[in-house]
Amino acid sequence: MSSALPGYEEAAAVVAAYAAQLSRFQPAAERAGLGLAAGRVLARALRADRDQPPFARSTRDGYACRAAEASAHAPLALAGTTRAGEAPAGPLPPKAAWEIMTGAPVPAGADAVMMLEHGEADGKRVRLMPPRTIAEGENIVAQGAQARGGDELLPSGSTIGFGQIALAAACGCAELEAFRRPRVAILTTGDEIVAVEAEPAPGQIRNSNGPMLAAMVAAAGGQPWMLPTAGDDGNLIDAALAQAAEADLLLITGGVSAGKFDLVEPALARQGARFHFTGVRIQPGKPLVFGDLLVKKRNAAGKADRSRRRPFFGLPGNPVSSAVTFLLFAAPVLAALAGRRDLGPRFALARLAEDVKGKDGLTRFLPAACTFGATAEHLPEVARVEWQGSGDLAAMARSNCFLVLPEETERLKAGAIVRILLP
Ligand code: AMP
Ligand code: MG
Repeated sequence: MSSALPGYEEAAAVVAAYAAQLSRFQPAAERAGLGLAAGRVLARALRADRDQPPFARSTRDGYACRAAEASAHAPLALAGTTRAGEAPAGPLPPKAAWEIMTGAPVPAGADAVMMLEHGEADGKRVRLMPPRTIAEGENIVAQGAQARGGDELLPSGSTIGFGQIALAAACGCAELEAFRRPRVAILTTGDEIVAVEAEPAPGQIRNSNGPMLAAMVAAAGGQPWMLPTAGDDGNLIDAALAQAAEADLLLITGGVSAGKFDLVEPALARQGARFHFTGVRIQPGKPLVFGDLLVKKRNAAGKADRSRRRPFFGLPGNPVSSAVTFLLFAAPVLAALAGRRDLGPRFALARLAEDVKGKDGLTRFLPAACTFGATAEHLPEVARVEWQGSGDLAAMARSNCFLVLPEETERLKAGAIVRILLP
């Protein structure tokens, strides 16, 4: 085993520093309708267009009142009714209560809302049922308690999910300014690889890495650009790399090991690649290659006017290796290109359900199934998924995370607290 290879932490630090550099460049922005904004990245801070809530809002069906008067348990005269959607009413007369619905504006003068279930009403009056008391502010969200009009609610770089979409809608934004999604070229290589639709001949296998990586790229905020598979031939790989030059990020799978027909690294070198590392002490994924290519951009007149380095990853062909190395190393670079603030990868803690063995000199990322049913007393529980090595797609498809075993781990006992890599 080559001890010259960086360990996981060292390689991760190289990628993190590279991603941080990329984060200084803002991608171009475009408008995205709320219906298509999920998974994209906010290019301009979202601001509140008015106070939130825009009026003092009742959170219950009941009776708006003054807490001090209601807590005396003396009957209060019912002075009016406000339904959700009606304009703020009032003022509330002294020793009175106001019938109110959830989501309705609380009348001026009221400082609490007595829950319907806590009041005894006869249509004209209502009394707080002893021994209940009510405190000022109860069941009311004050105007502007969540945000003031003009406040920044979400910074640029926030990933847009269901919560952010709801907030944007509440602020009257039918469209959001989102960063243009980086274009990620996916180049699969290997003489044995045929398309999903093809009937494989003896010795051939279907291209599963292409669709897998396309899904991973899309989930990470990128735009997958699938190139035709290139055979194990230097000229074919050269041509494919030239074609992929327009991409913001290049992912190549297969052909990065030390075999006779592993031709990707030499082809990248012919394109003038700068290599940041060629191999990492991890399993699966040891042959991973990370580097960048200098790509000259031409202007309309065909003159080179801007040069920029394009990152690439040579991912090992085995599907589990490809997936793990994407999550650990390619995803943070893609996140940076997408303008995201959270670059990942994402780890969590779990309790080991069984004894496991580590591998000397390699950080392992093993397909595992985690319950995620954490309670106050118990962490989520994780167990390995039985696998036949890094080509075992079925094992990966039955997993929902990867169990992390640091290099120095010899043996871990059931019950130990471990890290898991989240997809
Ligand atoms: P390589 O990295 O080229 O040595 O390939 C390692 C293993 O991954 C071999 O068994 C390949 O057949 C397999 N492999 C390579 N590319 C793909 C792909 N696109 N889809 C599925 N398996 C692949
Ligand atoms: Mg190969």
